Amino acid sequence: MIVVLNRDISAAEFDQLADRLQQHRLGFHRLALGGKQGLSIPEIPEGFDVRQLQMLDGVQEVFEINEPYKLASRRWKKEATRFEVNGVEIGGPAVNIVAGPCAVENEDQVFAVAEFLHRHHIKFIRGGAYKPRTSPYAFQGLKTAGLKILRKAADAYKLRVVTEVLDVSLLDEACEYADILQTGTRNMSNFYLLSAIGKRNKPVLLKRGMASRITEWLMAAEYILSGGNDKVILCERGIRTFDDLVRNTLDIAAFPIVKELSHLPVWSDPSHGTGLRNRVAPMALASIAAGADGLIMEMHPNPEAALSDGPQSLYPEQLGDLLRQLSPVAAVLGRPLDCAEMVHQPMA
Ligand code: PEP
Ligand code: MN
Repeated sequence: MIVVLNRDISAAEFDQLADRLQQHRLGFHRLALGGKQGLSIPEIPEGFDVRQLQMLDGVQEVFEINEPYKLASRRWKKEATRFEVNGVEIGGPAVNIVAGPCAVENEDQVFAVAEFLHRHHIKFIRGGAYKPRTSPYAFQGLKTAGLKILRKAADAYKLRVVTEVLDVSLLDEACEYADILQTGTRNMSNFYLLSAIGKRNKPVLLKRGMASRITEWLMAAEYILSGGNDKVILCERGIRTFDDLVRNTLDIAAFPIVKELSHLPVWSDPSHGTGLRNRVAPMALASIAAGADGLIMEMHPNPEAALSDGPQSLYPEQLGDLLRQLSPVAAVLGRPLDCAEMVHQPMA
């Protein structure tokens, strides 16, 4: 049971309410998000008439949310979550576009990408400075030096940085350089990291665990939201299935399902969702048609030489072509791309 409190509930009214709940042996958790406050009462004893709660001072509304996630639920908040990242709206009508290499490799690479993005009016650059690799012998990222390169290129070309934070010990540093923190698929169940991010006032792109149910993914979002950070973007990046012709299976059905269950924006990562660059465009188009609010895609000036995820990285001109295809598909749904004023020029 959820009890929504009046926004101006006084401390005295709250204490009285807490006393009454205690008298009835009703345990509760406090919920707070974006100025809205409430209580979640996990168990209602037999015979207790919940209408009694409605009568108490300070109570605005009482209703049920059966799902284990509360703050992430559409029942808690009906209107879609929208917020700005340095002047660009997330979760609004415009479809957000993010592109960049899997890993930051050197300054030339990142500046070439940033210049291309800028010319196409793309507002966000992605790139990993700390890479969660399956093999300890694979390139692990340039770490702090990589974050500095990303920031420098982003500032030079007026871009916003999306980059992964791998561990709670790296959170301060990530917050210093990133505009949006990314949590990777392998960390979706790192609840300690999610809680720590919940206490920061930084937008976060929460990737779905590769073997996680949608409910578990929304519970991961709940960890961040319950800390007070309401700037959460969900990101479908493909799940493990039995098929071995794709790296992952991008779960297209997740978009309408998440939209129904939650108010949070949901993006698609068709690069990790397929693993091969020729499959990125069709899945990007399908994602937008299915209701995704944004796309995050890997591109590289020279994918053959990429130090990670080369096979799924788009050539720059492929990204340009894809934007041209995406634009009318999004338009049918009444959605412009956030880089709508793009001009198409080949990479220098
Ligand atoms: C990435 O975005 O480069 C990445 C490692 O993503 P994921 O966590 O989805 O595998
Ligand atoms: Mn990658």
